[in-house]
Amino acid sequence: MTQEEKQRKLDLRYLRMARIWAENSYCKRRQVGALVVKDKMIISDGYNGTPSGFENVCEDESNITKPYVLHAEANAITKLARSSNNSDGSTLYVTASPCIECSKLIIQAGIKRVVYAEHYRLEDGIDLLKKANIEVTYLNPDDNEPEQV
Ligand SMILES: [Zn+2]
Repeated sequence: MTQEEKQRKLDLRYLRMARIWAENSYCKRRQVGALVVKDKMIISDGYNGTPSGFENVCEDESNITKPYVLHAEANAITKLARSSNNSDGSTLYVTASPCIECSKLIIQAGIKRVVYAEHYRLEDGIDLLKKANIEVTYLNPDDNEPEQV
């Protein structure tokens, strides 16, 4: 197996793990999961939800997402701020394409690569990441892994 195939295989597995992690989200409209991986270690994780100490409800009475709901990427990155891990040079796996607000955090966190699973109607987050020379890869987590040799 080539190095590229090995990487793709790992990417697909981490992306599927991020998708499973998204199941932790109590948000009803949309569940998103994220993992931060560095040197083949998961150093942080996140899913979309309200900040610590707030009621675990993401939507208001009109089913609109509350403005203080944190995205999965923001939760994964801010979790690192309270840990001894360092995201510099890491890869972020996320089940939906990052929005522009999360993309700013991704850039400032020193993340070098983003692998995401789902296209979003707005591409401005992805464009910003590319502008910051972050490698952006789209993968379908349900794609078959490369054949074992
Ligand atoms: Zn976001």
